[in-house]
Amino acid sequence: MDEQKRYFSRELLIWYRANRRDLPWRRHSNPYYTWVSEIMLQQTRVETVKPYFERFIAKFPTVEALADAPEEEVLKSWEGLGYYSRARNLQAAAKEVKTQYGGQVPDDKAKVSALKGIGPYTSGAIMSIAFNRPEPAVDGNVMRVLSRYFRLHDDIAKPATRAHMEHLAQELIPEGCASDFNQALMELGALVCTPKSPACLPCPVMEHCAGRLAGEELELPVKTKAKPPKPELRYAALIAGTGEHAGKVLVRQRPATGLLAKMWELPHLLVPKQAGLIGMSESEAMDVLRGGLLAQGIDAVPIDRWVDAEHTFSHIHWQMRVFRCELRELQELKDKDRTAYQWAGPEEMEQLAFPNLFLRILNDYFQ
Ligand code: SF4
Repeated sequence: MDEQKRYFSRELLIWYRANRRDLPWRRHSNPYYTWVSEIMLQQTRVETVKPYFERFIAKFPTVEALADAPEEEVLKSWEGLGYYSRARNLQAAAKEVKTQYGGQVPDDKAKVSALKGIGPYTSGAIMSIAFNRPEPAVDGNVMRVLSRYFRLHDDIAKPATRAHMEHLAQELIPEGCASDFNQALMELGALVCTPKSPACLPCPVMEHCAGRLAGEELELPVKTKAKPPKPELRYAALIAGTGEHAGKVLVRQRPATGLLAKMWELPHLLVPKQAGLIGMSESEAMDVLRGGLLAQGIDAVPIDRWVDAEHTFSHIHWQMRVFRCELRELQELKDKDRTAYQWAGPEEMEQLAFPNLFLRILNDYFQ
Protein backbone atom coordinates (compact mmCIF):
# COMPACT_ATOMS: atom_id res chain seq x y z
CA MET A 1 0.00 0.00 0.00
CA ASP A 2 1.40 3.42 -0.83
CA GLU A 3 1.91 6.21 1.70
CA GLN A 4 -1.18 8.17 0.62
CA LYS A 5 -3.37 5.16 1.40
CA ARG A 6 -1.61 4.28 4.65
CA TYR A 7 -1.89 7.86 5.82
CA PHE A 8 -5.61 7.95 5.02
CA SER A 9 -6.39 4.77 6.96
CA ARG A 10 -4.26 5.69 9.95
CA GLU A 11 -5.38 9.30 10.36
CA LEU A 12 -9.03 8.55 9.74
CA LEU A 13 -9.07 5.85 12.41
CA ILE A 14 -7.35 8.09 14.97
CA TRP A 15 -9.79 10.91 14.20
CA TYR A 16 -12.84 8.64 14.46
CA ARG A 17 -11.83 7.11 17.75
CA ALA A 18 -11.50 10.58 19.24
CA ASN A 19 -14.59 12.10 17.62
CA ARG A 20 -17.18 9.38 17.04
CA ARG A 21 -20.73 10.47 17.63
CA ASP A 22 -22.74 8.82 20.35
CA LEU A 23 -25.54 7.27 18.28
CA PRO A 24 -28.21 4.96 19.74
CA TRP A 25 -27.23 2.03 17.50
CA ARG A 26 -23.58 2.36 18.51
CA ARG A 27 -24.25 1.92 22.21
CA HIS A 28 -24.53 -1.87 22.06
CA SER A 29 -22.81 -4.32 19.82
CA ASN A 30 -25.82 -6.06 18.35
CA PRO A 31 -26.02 -7.09 14.69
CA TYR A 32 -29.82 -6.64 14.71
CA TYR A 33 -29.39 -3.00 15.81
CA THR A 34 -26.78 -2.42 13.11
CA TRP A 35 -29.09 -3.93 10.53
CA VAL A 36 -32.15 -1.88 11.55
CA SER A 37 -30.13 1.34 11.73
CA GLU A 38 -28.53 0.81 8.34
CA ILE A 39 -31.92 0.19 6.70
CA MET A 40 -33.38 3.28 8.38
CA LEU A 41 -30.39 5.42 7.39
CA GLN A 42 -30.83 4.70 3.68
CA GLN A 43 -32.02 7.98 2.13
CA THR A 44 -32.64 9.40 5.61
CA ARG A 45 -30.66 11.74 7.87
CA VAL A 46 -29.14 10.57 11.15
CA GLU A 47 -31.07 13.12 13.24
CA THR A 48 -34.37 11.95 11.73
CA VAL A 49 -33.52 8.30 12.29
CA LYS A 50 -32.51 8.53 15.97
CA PRO A 51 -36.01 8.74 17.56
CA TYR A 52 -37.42 6.23 15.05
CA PHE A 53 -34.67 3.78 15.84
CA GLU A 54 -35.22 4.06 19.60
CA ARG A 55 -38.97 3.60 19.32
CA PHE A 56 -38.56 0.73 16.86
CA ILE A 57 -36.11 -1.17 19.07
CA ALA A 58 -38.28 -0.55 22.15
CA LYS A 59 -41.22 -2.04 20.28
CA PHE A 60 -39.39 -4.81 18.44
CA PRO A 61 -36.34 -5.54 20.61
CA THR A 62 -35.29 -8.72 18.83
CA VAL A 63 -35.39 -10.30 15.40
CA GLU A 64 -38.15 -12.64 16.65
CA ALA A 65 -40.25 -9.76 17.98
CA LEU A 66 -40.06 -8.07 14.58
CA ALA A 67 -40.76 -11.29 12.69
CA ASP A 68 -43.86 -12.02 14.80
CA ALA A 69 -45.35 -8.50 14.78
CA PRO A 70 -48.42 -7.64 12.69
CA GLU A 71 -47.31 -5.91 9.50
CA GLU A 72 -49.54 -2.89 10.22
CA GLU A 73 -47.66 -2.28 13.46
CA VAL A 74 -44.32 -2.36 11.67
CA LEU A 75 -45.58 0.07 9.03
CA LYS A 76 -47.04 2.32 11.72
CA SER A 77 -43.64 2.44 13.45
CA TRP A 78 -42.11 3.45 10.12
CA GLU A 79 -44.72 6.10 9.39
CA GLY A 80 -43.03 9.35 8.38
CA LEU A 81 -39.69 7.74 7.47
CA GLY A 82 -40.76 7.10 3.86
CA TYR A 83 -39.58 4.38 1.48
CA TYR A 84 -41.90 1.93 3.17
CA SER A 85 -40.75 -1.09 1.19
CA ARG A 86 -37.70 -0.92 3.47
CA ALA A 87 -39.91 -1.77 6.46
CA ARG A 88 -41.70 -4.57 4.66
CA ASN A 89 -38.45 -6.09 3.42
CA LEU A 90 -36.90 -5.77 6.86
CA GLN A 91 -39.74 -7.72 8.39
CA ALA A 92 -39.67 -10.35 5.63
CA ALA A 93 -35.94 -10.79 6.22
CA ALA A 94 -36.48 -10.97 10.00
CA LYS A 95 -38.86 -13.89 9.41
CA GLU A 96 -36.14 -15.58 7.35
CA VAL A 97 -33.54 -15.00 10.07
CA LYS A 98 -35.95 -16.37 12.67
CA THR A 99 -36.76 -19.57 10.79
CA GLN A 100 -33.42 -20.26 9.13
CA TYR A 101 -30.89 -18.95 11.64
CA GLY A 102 -32.69 -19.22 14.98
CA GLY A 103 -33.18 -15.46 15.23
CA GLN A 104 -29.45 -14.66 15.04
CA VAL A 105 -28.14 -12.53 12.18
CA PRO A 106 -25.62 -14.90 10.55
CA ASP A 107 -21.93 -13.99 10.57
CA ASP A 108 -21.75 -14.96 6.90
CA LYS A 109 -21.67 -12.50 4.02
CA ALA A 110 -23.43 -14.75 1.50
CA LYS A 111 -26.29 -15.44 3.93
CA VAL A 112 -26.67 -11.80 4.94
CA SER A 113 -26.54 -10.67 1.29
CA ALA A 114 -29.31 -13.12 0.40
CA LEU A 115 -31.77 -11.56 2.86
CA LYS A 116 -34.56 -9.43 1.46
CA GLY A 117 -33.80 -5.73 1.16
CA ILE A 118 -30.06 -6.12 1.77
CA GLY A 119 -27.86 -4.86 -1.06
CA PRO A 120 -24.06 -4.75 -1.30
CA TYR A 121 -23.74 -1.60 0.84
CA THR A 122 -25.93 -2.88 3.68
CA SER A 123 -24.35 -6.33 3.74
CA GLY A 124 -20.91 -4.69 3.85
CA ALA A 125 -22.06 -2.41 6.67
CA ILE A 126 -23.49 -5.28 8.72
CA MET A 127 -20.51 -7.58 8.17
CA SER A 128 -17.98 -4.90 9.01
CA ILE A 129 -19.72 -2.94 11.78
CA ALA A 130 -21.34 -5.87 13.58
CA PHE A 131 -18.82 -8.65 12.92
CA ASN A 132 -15.64 -6.67 12.18
CA ARG A 133 -15.19 -8.50 8.87
CA PRO A 134 -13.02 -6.65 6.32
CA GLU A 135 -15.87 -5.96 3.90
CA PRO A 136 -16.29 -2.60 2.16
CA ALA A 137 -19.49 -0.61 2.68
CA VAL A 138 -19.60 1.86 -0.17
CA ASP A 139 -22.46 4.30 -0.59
CA GLY A 140 -22.68 7.78 -2.09
CA ASN A 141 -20.97 9.37 0.93
CA VAL A 142 -18.03 7.02 0.79
CA MET A 143 -17.67 7.43 -2.98
CA ARG A 144 -17.59 11.19 -2.52
CA VAL A 145 -14.81 10.99 0.07
CA LEU A 146 -12.73 8.55 -1.99
CA SER A 147 -13.24 10.49 -5.23
CA ARG A 148 -11.96 13.64 -3.54
CA TYR A 149 -9.13 12.17 -1.53
CA PHE A 150 -7.74 10.13 -4.44
CA ARG A 151 -8.84 12.69 -7.04
CA LEU A 152 -10.80 10.16 -9.08
CA HIS A 153 -12.81 11.54 -12.01
CA ASP A 154 -14.80 8.40 -12.80
CA ASP A 155 -18.56 8.83 -12.90
CA ILE A 156 -19.86 7.47 -9.59
CA ALA A 157 -23.25 6.73 -11.18
CA LYS A 158 -21.60 3.91 -13.16
CA PRO A 159 -21.50 0.37 -11.74
CA ALA A 160 -17.85 -0.04 -12.84
CA THR A 161 -16.87 2.94 -10.68
CA ARG A 162 -18.65 1.47 -7.68
CA ALA A 163 -16.83 -1.83 -8.21
CA HIS A 164 -13.53 0.02 -8.31
CA MET A 165 -14.41 1.99 -5.17
CA GLU A 166 -15.35 -1.20 -3.34
CA HIS A 167 -12.00 -2.67 -4.19
CA LEU A 168 -10.23 0.49 -3.02
CA ALA A 169 -12.30 0.76 0.18
CA GLN A 170 -11.51 -2.86 1.03
CA GLU A 171 -7.82 -2.31 0.47
CA LEU A 172 -7.87 0.65 2.88
CA ILE A 173 -9.33 -1.28 5.84
CA PRO A 174 -6.59 -1.64 8.48
CA GLU A 175 -6.19 -5.17 9.78
CA GLY A 176 -8.64 -6.02 12.56
CA CYS A 177 -10.30 -2.57 12.41
CA ALA A 178 -13.07 -2.99 9.82
CA SER A 179 -15.84 -1.91 12.16
CA ASP A 180 -14.26 1.35 13.24
CA PHE A 181 -12.70 2.11 9.88
CA ASN A 182 -15.90 1.78 7.87
CA GLN A 183 -17.78 3.87 10.39
CA ALA A 184 -14.97 6.41 10.27
CA LEU A 185 -15.30 6.68 6.51
CA MET A 186 -19.06 7.16 6.79
CA GLU A 187 -18.58 9.66 9.60
CA LEU A 188 -16.08 11.71 7.60
CA GLY A 189 -18.53 11.89 4.69
CA ALA A 190 -21.37 12.89 6.99
CA LEU A 191 -19.58 15.46 9.15
CA VAL A 192 -16.54 16.79 7.33
CA CYS A 193 -16.36 15.94 3.64
CA THR A 194 -19.95 16.99 3.03
CA PRO A 195 -21.42 17.36 -0.47
CA LYS A 196 -21.55 21.14 -0.80
CA SER A 197 -19.11 22.52 1.76
CA PRO A 198 -16.29 20.15 2.66
CA ALA A 199 -14.49 21.35 5.79
CA CYS A 200 -10.99 20.77 4.45
CA LEU A 201 -9.11 22.77 7.07
CA PRO A 202 -10.03 20.65 10.09
CA CYS A 203 -10.20 17.46 7.96
CA PRO A 204 -7.95 14.74 9.42
CA VAL A 205 -6.71 13.62 5.98
CA MET A 206 -6.30 17.06 4.46
CA GLU A 207 -2.54 16.88 4.07
CA HIS A 208 -2.62 14.15 1.42
CA CYS A 209 -6.02 14.84 -0.11
CA ALA A 210 -5.31 14.99 -3.86
CA GLY A 211 -8.67 16.58 -4.67
CA ARG A 212 -8.09 19.43 -2.23
CA LEU A 213 -4.45 19.89 -3.31
CA ALA A 214 -5.70 20.30 -6.90
CA GLY A 215 -8.45 22.68 -5.74
CA GLU A 216 -11.07 20.29 -7.07
CA GLU A 217 -12.88 19.36 -3.87
CA LEU A 218 -16.08 21.03 -5.03
CA GLU A 219 -15.95 19.53 -8.51
CA LEU A 220 -15.65 15.99 -7.24
CA PRO A 221 -17.21 13.50 -7.34
CA VAL A 222 -18.23 13.36 -10.98
CA LYS A 223 -21.80 12.15 -11.24
CA THR A 224 -24.12 12.14 -14.23
CA LYS A 225 -27.53 13.40 -13.32
CA ALA A 226 -30.35 10.89 -12.86
CA LYS A 227 -33.52 11.43 -14.85
CA PRO A 228 -35.82 13.88 -13.03
CA PRO A 229 -38.88 12.28 -11.43
CA LYS A 230 -41.93 12.08 -13.69
CA PRO A 231 -44.60 14.63 -12.69
CA GLU A 232 -48.07 13.28 -11.97
CA LEU A 233 -51.10 15.40 -11.21
CA ARG A 234 -53.59 13.75 -8.88
CA TYR A 235 -56.95 14.88 -7.53
CA ALA A 236 -57.86 13.72 -4.06
CA ALA A 237 -61.15 13.77 -2.20
CA LEU A 238 -61.53 14.84 1.39
CA ILE A 239 -64.93 13.37 2.19
CA ALA A 240 -66.19 14.20 5.67
CA GLY A 241 -68.37 11.65 7.41
CA THR A 242 -71.79 12.50 8.82
CA GLY A 243 -73.96 10.94 11.52
CA GLU A 244 -72.07 8.15 13.26
CA HIS A 245 -69.01 9.00 11.12
CA ALA A 246 -68.97 12.71 11.97
CA GLY A 247 -65.47 14.03 12.65
CA LYS A 248 -63.94 11.42 10.32
CA VAL A 249 -62.96 11.25 6.66
CA LEU A 250 -63.11 8.44 4.14
CA VAL A 251 -59.76 6.70 3.66
CA ARG A 252 -58.70 3.62 1.78
CA GLN A 253 -55.88 1.15 1.88
CA ARG A 254 -53.52 0.85 -1.05
CA PRO A 255 -53.09 -2.49 -2.85
CA ALA A 256 -50.86 -5.13 -1.28
CA THR A 257 -48.07 -4.65 -3.82
CA GLY A 258 -46.40 -1.70 -5.54
CA LEU A 259 -45.73 1.84 -4.38
CA LEU A 260 -46.71 2.48 -0.74
CA ALA A 261 -48.24 -0.99 -0.54
CA LYS A 262 -50.89 -1.40 2.17
CA MET A 263 -50.55 2.17 3.40
CA TRP A 264 -53.68 4.29 3.92
CA GLU A 265 -54.61 7.36 1.88
CA LEU A 266 -57.39 9.65 0.73
CA PRO A 267 -59.25 8.41 -2.34
CA HIS A 268 -57.59 10.01 -5.34
CA LEU A 269 -57.04 9.57 -9.03
CA LEU A 270 -54.33 10.18 -11.56
CA VAL A 271 -55.33 12.95 -13.95
CA PRO A 272 -54.62 11.97 -17.55
CA LYS A 273 -51.62 13.94 -18.81
CA GLN A 274 -53.34 15.64 -21.71
CA ALA A 275 -56.06 16.93 -19.37
CA GLY A 276 -54.11 17.72 -16.24
CA LEU A 277 -50.86 19.38 -16.92
CA ILE A 278 -52.05 21.89 -19.47
CA GLY A 279 -54.23 23.61 -16.93
CA MET A 280 -57.83 22.81 -16.24
CA SER A 281 -60.31 25.21 -14.71
CA GLU A 282 -61.36 24.49 -11.13
CA SER A 283 -64.84 23.36 -12.18
CA GLU A 284 -63.42 21.07 -14.90
CA ALA A 285 -61.07 19.60 -12.32
CA MET A 286 -63.99 18.98 -9.98
CA ASP A 287 -65.90 17.26 -12.79
CA VAL A 288 -62.93 15.00 -13.46
CA LEU A 289 -62.72 14.12 -9.76
CA ARG A 290 -66.44 13.48 -9.51
CA GLY A 291 -66.30 11.13 -12.51
CA GLY A 292 -63.28 9.33 -11.11
CA LEU A 293 -64.90 8.86 -7.70
CA LEU A 294 -68.09 7.54 -9.31
CA ALA A 295 -66.02 4.99 -11.19
CA GLN A 296 -64.71 3.86 -7.81
CA GLY A 297 -68.23 3.55 -6.40
CA ILE A 298 -68.16 6.81 -4.43
CA ASP A 299 -70.94 9.26 -5.23
CA ALA A 300 -69.49 12.49 -3.87
CA VAL A 301 -69.67 16.07 -5.09
CA PRO A 302 -66.53 18.22 -4.92
CA ILE A 303 -67.32 21.53 -3.19
CA ASP A 304 -64.08 23.47 -3.08
CA ARG A 305 -60.34 23.16 -3.15
CA TRP A 306 -58.90 22.42 0.29
CA VAL A 307 -55.16 22.40 -0.26
CA ASP A 308 -52.35 21.50 -2.68
CA ALA A 309 -49.60 19.18 -1.57
CA GLU A 310 -46.71 17.41 -3.20
CA HIS A 311 -44.28 14.60 -2.64
CA THR A 312 -41.32 13.33 -4.60
CA PHE A 313 -40.61 9.62 -4.73
CA SER A 314 -37.44 8.38 -6.36
CA HIS A 315 -39.02 8.19 -9.83
CA ILE A 316 -42.25 10.20 -9.67
CA HIS A 317 -43.39 13.51 -8.33
CA TRP A 318 -46.98 13.69 -7.08
CA GLN A 319 -48.75 17.01 -7.25
CA MET A 320 -51.86 16.43 -5.21
CA ARG A 321 -54.80 18.80 -5.40
CA VAL A 322 -57.22 18.06 -2.59
CA PHE A 323 -60.91 18.94 -2.84
CA ARG A 324 -63.43 18.82 -0.06
CA CYS A 325 -66.35 16.71 -1.19
CA GLU A 326 -69.85 16.03 0.03
CA LEU A 327 -70.87 12.40 0.12
CA ARG A 328 -74.12 11.46 -1.57
CA GLU A 329 -73.77 7.71 -1.51
CA LEU A 330 -71.18 5.09 -0.92
CA GLN A 331 -72.04 2.30 -3.32
CA GLU A 332 -70.57 -1.13 -3.24
CA LEU A 333 -66.97 -0.17 -3.85
CA LYS A 334 -65.86 -1.18 -7.28
CA ASP A 335 -62.19 -0.75 -6.78
CA LYS A 336 -61.47 -4.43 -6.34
CA ASP A 337 -57.73 -4.00 -5.89
CA ARG A 338 -58.27 -2.21 -2.61
CA THR A 339 -58.51 -4.30 0.49
CA ALA A 340 -60.51 -1.77 2.47
CA TYR A 341 -62.16 1.60 2.80
CA GLN A 342 -63.01 3.01 6.20
CA TRP A 343 -63.80 6.17 8.12
CA ALA A 344 -60.87 7.57 10.02
CA GLY A 345 -60.53 10.34 12.58
CA PRO A 346 -57.61 11.19 14.88
CA GLU A 347 -58.20 8.00 16.89
CA GLU A 348 -58.03 5.68 13.87
CA MET A 349 -55.00 7.55 12.61
CA GLU A 350 -53.13 6.25 15.67
CA GLN A 351 -53.51 2.74 14.26
CA LEU A 352 -53.36 3.15 10.48
CA ALA A 353 -50.13 3.96 8.64
CA PHE A 354 -50.28 6.88 6.21
CA PRO A 355 -47.56 8.12 3.82
CA ASN A 356 -46.13 11.53 4.70
CA LEU A 357 -48.10 13.40 2.08
CA PHE A 358 -51.46 12.27 3.47
CA LEU A 359 -50.29 12.60 7.07
CA ARG A 360 -49.58 16.27 6.45
CA ILE A 361 -52.96 16.85 4.80
CA LEU A 362 -54.91 14.98 7.48
CA ASN A 363 -53.06 16.43 10.45
CA ASP A 364 -53.79 19.84 9.03
CA TYR A 365 -57.45 18.94 8.52
CA PHE A 366 -57.96 17.53 12.01
CA GLN A 367 -56.12 20.37 13.75
S1 SF4 B 1 -9.50 17.53 2.58
FE1 SF4 B 1 -11.49 18.29 2.00
S2 SF4 B 1 -11.99 17.24 0.09
FE2 SF4 B 1 -10.28 16.14 1.04
S3 SF4 B 1 -11.28 14.50 2.18
FE3 SF4 B 1 -10.97 16.22 3.59
S4 SF4 B 1 -12.86 17.40 3.50
FE4 SF4 B 1 -12.85 16.02 1.75
